[in-house]
Amino acid sequence: MIDMESANAFLQKNKNPLLLILGLFLLVAFFSFNDVDSNHDFDLGQKSQIGSFKLIKPNQKWGFAIDTFEVKKSTIQNNEFFGEVLQKNNVAYPVIEGIISNTKEFFDVNHWRVGKNYWFLKKPSSKTSDYLVYEPSVYKYYLFDLKNGTGTVNERPIKKELKTASGVISSSLWKTMTDAGLSFDVAGKMENALQWSIDFHHAQKGDQFKLYYEEESINGQVVGVGDLHAASYKTGENEFQTVYYDDEEHPGYYDLEGRPMNKGFLKSPVKYSRISSRFNRRRFHPVLKRVRPHLGTDYAAPRGTPIYAVGDGVVLEARRRGGNGNYVKIRHNETYQTQYLHMQKFAKGISSGVHVKQGQVIGYVGSTGLATGPHVCFRFWKNGKQVNHLRLEFPPPKPLPAAEMADFNVVRDKFVAKLNEVDYPELIEGSTEAQDEIKNVEATDNEAVMANP
Ligand SMILES: [Zn+2]
Repeated sequence: MIDMESANAFLQKNKNPLLLILGLFLLVAFFSFNDVDSNHDFDLGQKSQIGSFKLIKPNQKWGFAIDTFEVKKSTIQNNEFFGEVLQKNNVAYPVIEGIISNTKEFFDVNHWRVGKNYWFLKKPSSKTSDYLVYEPSVYKYYLFDLKNGTGTVNERPIKKELKTASGVISSSLWKTMTDAGLSFDVAGKMENALQWSIDFHHAQKGDQFKLYYEEESINGQVVGVGDLHAASYKTGENEFQTVYYDDEEHPGYYDLEGRPMNKGFLKSPVKYSRISSRFNRRRFHPVLKRVRPHLGTDYAAPRGTPIYAVGDGVVLEARRRGGNGNYVKIRHNETYQTQYLHMQKFAKGISSGVHVKQGQVIGYVGSTGLATGPHVCFRFWKNGKQVNHLRLEFPPPKPLPAAEMADFNVVRDKFVAKLNEVDYPELIEGSTEAQDEIKNVEATDNEAVMANP
């Protein structure tokens, strides 16, 4: 028989954590995108005035005065091949063959992709279509001449504009980002830049961030995100800042002192300690008096010695349980977690969900749980399995050479100044709905860079 009362009690007890977890996965930001528009049609006609005469320029698209054509738009279906589509539209076989051989240098018929759009263009006076346009992306289109059996590839000039964005995590970042069309890309770049410092799967409500990045547009329409130049992320007491520095030899994200964001891990969680017991799958346990694998490394140190987080990450657990005593478990990224056992006590502010920095004190050496004397049993998890961290090879963090620092500082100061032009938005309690909307903030920079001029 099911005990309804305890089932209810269980639900009650677990309702809040459940909501909390849900909440953590649903982040919100408001972003400062300008002119984010879902309409990705380009080269539309523009009206301009000269004196009192209205001059109407024809609608230009794909290099044509498009209004002089009959235009038929289609989307590539499954198992619909290039040649077939042409055949169905009454293009003679020799012409199809001509197109394929004349364009093979830049057009591979296998890159005719399901879901992409194509257009047949026909002059009213023509019996069959005159042109086929294929647009695999907003960045380029192919134009095939169906009368002459030729074709061209046309790259659209991308305008890159530097923008700043700021946000606060409130309830549903992902939704907001997807709605904004672009912001999801920005989020991905932010995650990439800060992944060694911030665990974005455990982002906290109220976390704030600022970004300085390139926005890509084509003929005034935002189409994508270019490089993320700088980012800062504030969570709890900690602020993480990074700038991208590229001198060709040392490209990457660095902190403001020129240290790589990918810091690897500290060699040990306590200073001035000695290893009192190594990782050993067949160790005789001194307290239990039997063979029991020791899946950690013990560092003996005086009671009260500070224990450091070996890497940036988020605290998964800070609790007391059984033989582990007081312990802290930290998730560093998708791959690595670390755990620190037998603590005398936790450092101030260390609790589940808190972000910690590499080298931050998380607790103090003790002998709580199954321990013969004061030590920290350090456990290292790789892909969910406990491993001997002393045997792991990590890519050594390469600091910028001293000779680079002057150049780095110039770049850093410029980027940080840009970030400082915007403030972190404040989380307004109880009004998450309002913050789900995209907030337009003025662009802070107009150093437009033209790519593919
Ligand atoms: Zn141990």
